[in-house]
Amino acid sequence: MDALKAVELLNKFNNCPKCGSEKVGDQEGSVEIHDDKFKRTCKCGWSIEVTVKN
Ligand SMILES: [Zn+2]
Repeated sequence: MDALKAVELLNKFNNCPKCGSEKVGDQEGSVEIHDDKFKRTCKCGWSIEVTVKN
């Protein structure tokens, strides 16, 4: 996906809506960005996956 879209999604899902954590490193969560998919996970078990169509 293009960088602008990736940044938009990162900003949108920066904070976990479940526990409020904004940490995505240090084993507290992760972000995966692929060509057509954005995935954000959190240590509390929350995760979201967004499919982006180009
Ligand atoms: Zn969380």
